[in-house]
Amino acid sequence: RIAYLNGQYVPHGDAMVHIEDRGYQFSDGVYEVTLALGGRLLDEDRHLARLGRSLAALDIAPPLGEPALKVAMRKLVALNRLPDALLYQQVTRGVAPRGHAFPKRPVRPALVMTVRRFDPAAVAARQTQGAAVVTVPDLRWRRCDIKSVSLLGNVLAKQAASAAGAQEAWMVDTVGVTEGASTTAWIVTQGGEVVSRQLSQSLLPGVTRAVIADALAPLGVRFVERPFTVAEAQAAAEAFFTSTTSFVMPVTSIDGQTVADGRPGPVTRAIQAAHWAHVRAATGR
Ligand code: PLP
Repeated sequence: RIAYLNGQYVPHGDAMVHIEDRGYQFSDGVYEVTLALGGRLLDEDRHLARLGRSLAALDIAPPLGEPALKVAMRKLVALNRLPDALLYQQVTRGVAPRGHAFPKRPVRPALVMTVRRFDPAAVAARQTQGAAVVTVPDLRWRRCDIKSVSLLGNVLAKQAASAAGAQEAWMVDTVGVTEGASTTAWIVTQGGEVVSRQLSQSLLPGVTRAVIADALAPLGVRFVERPFTVAEAQAAAEAFFTSTTSFVMPVTSIDGQTVADGRPGPVTRAIQAAHWAHVRAATGR
């Protein structure tokens, strides 16, 4: 496996960053996860736009211009000879003697990219099964719209799910469900409306969320952006979560309570199909 490290393509095991990189000491950095299917990058411009917003929010200069970054992404995918790959990109502020405030002298941001195998067929198989969700308090900070590598709240939430034998944890604030540990949370009401929380600083603007939002009108489904509670989700007609790597995943139970009959519902399956059509159109997969 080959990794990208600040302009170099190096064996994955040899790709090292400095112990005083601020990403390591302060989680002072941001990331993106993008799929390359059949060698083509899915929703690349949306991911790069979000990367740009995350960097701007933390006042980190983009390490590469967008055209150069796109070239590097393609080269890394090609070098690894993986037909279907998950591309991880991370930008940290750079290396400086430890001190909370930004370094006085400008430092060079560090760009690291790795790829690993991704199996769309495995996702398709899981999509027919659905997933169990547990709920946890949302312990995170108030800028969850930034895709920061500071993920301890998400890590603890996902670990709670794992310990409970569930696949995802939905995090809950004073208003309701914010989002999953690494996914966007959705329900389908008994009236057939699709609901996901409105974007704010409390959740990440999911790329898959935006793709699905665009797909709903042609399906004749009304999209309502508002908060929902755990009790409403448990009593909903359907529930699902979305992300770059899990696509559209039906939720079959929430905190042990079965959602409807515990099987993927018709609206969720229609949205899955629309999402697959989007994937096929964009990548040929
Ligand atoms: N919410 C969180 C906290 C995430 O980490 C992710 C990313 O995987 C998502 C939502 C879904 O975002 P996307 O659809 O862009 O993958």
